[in-house]
Amino acid sequence: MFDKIERADLNELHFRHDKSSGLRAIIAIHNTRLGPALGGCRFITYDSDDDAIEDVIRLARGMSYKAAIANVPQGGGKAVILKPLEPFDRQELFQAFGSFIHDLGGRYITAVDSGSLITDMDEVALNTPYVSGTTRDGHDPSPVTALGVYAGICAAVQHQLGRTSLKGLRIAVQGLGNVGYALAALLHKDGARLIVSDIDERRVQRCVSEFGAEAVDSNSIYGVDCDLFAPCGLGGVINARTIPQLRCSIVAGAANNQLSDDGQGEVLHKKGILYAPDYVINAGGLIQVSLGYLKKPASEINQRTLALGGTLTDLFERSRADNVSPEQIANRVAESLLFD
Ligand code: NAD
Repeated sequence: MFDKIERADLNELHFRHDKSSGLRAIIAIHNTRLGPALGGCRFITYDSDDDAIEDVIRLARGMSYKAAIANVPQGGGKAVILKPLEPFDRQELFQAFGSFIHDLGGRYITAVDSGSLITDMDEVALNTPYVSGTTRDGHDPSPVTALGVYAGICAAVQHQLGRTSLKGLRIAVQGLGNVGYALAALLHKDGARLIVSDIDERRVQRCVSEFGAEAVDSNSIYGVDCDLFAPCGLGGVINARTIPQLRCSIVAGAANNQLSDDGQGEVLHKKGILYAPDYVINAGGLIQVSLGYLKKPASEINQRTLALGGTLTDLFERSRADNVSPEQIANRVAESLLFD
């Protein structure tokens, strides 16, 4: 266990088992140099406890990097609740999770993530103030994440294609959920021509009818002839199998952990495909839950989110000057803020 903790430079790992609610949860606090750790709470089933531990450590570390680059006064943390296989009372479970967070005294602040809902955060809030994104505070991260990805796409297009407008560009969006759909709306408004895919046919049809998007099946999206590919569904989609299929010059989307491994960032760089590091371009949601928690106005949150475009332009320029991938430059910047 301490090997894993040391490898990830993790500060704290906390476990809670609550018999009456059935709660089995883990909170990882990676680094609090820049502020209390903030990160969402995953509520999914895991094949093993080890998988859950690996996941929470990896995600907490990612949040430290994301907060550092986004310049929010937050450290990196994450929580996982192992979804019980037996029947359970959801409200009781999330209330017990709230007590777990509260016992950490504010070193970790939670928010929604895969599998958890804003209404779950209302239950958490009954037992702790260390939560952002309840139905009452209205800090829904998804629209702000989409706004940040849109700003990042504009920056990438300007850097790579020398264009100041998206008008007429062909943009392929994979995954049309909370973020992907909001992003598609922003791109359509700017005159981009959309090619879309989702495993949920209703989501595809909504974009076809509202934005005149061209629909392609989930396996074909990688090989679509386009200017930019925006992964907004799953992680790991940029890998040794998909990169040879790409016919775009930019990859920039919302999905977390888009690269199957760090090496794929270099592969894209060598092929001349500009990659917007995921944890930089998708930081709008973190900016929303962080600054929303600190009661900053929406205007400041939007302005800080749009500024992600400028952050990416800096990374792209340094990547070009040093001839290394933007991902490597982003990691260097984050690590200097976290560890130097
Ligand atoms: P979501 O669950 O609302 O949407 C994901 C969509 O992807 C769904 O419509 C799903 O059907 C689709 N999908 C799943 N597998 C697919 C496949 N093989 N091909 C095509 N589509 C597929 O999730 P979301 O909140 O929109 O988040 C999207 C991504 O962005 C995730 O990777 C998430 O981790 C990341 N992200 C989200 C936020 C946020 O604020 N919501 C913030 C940062 C990062």
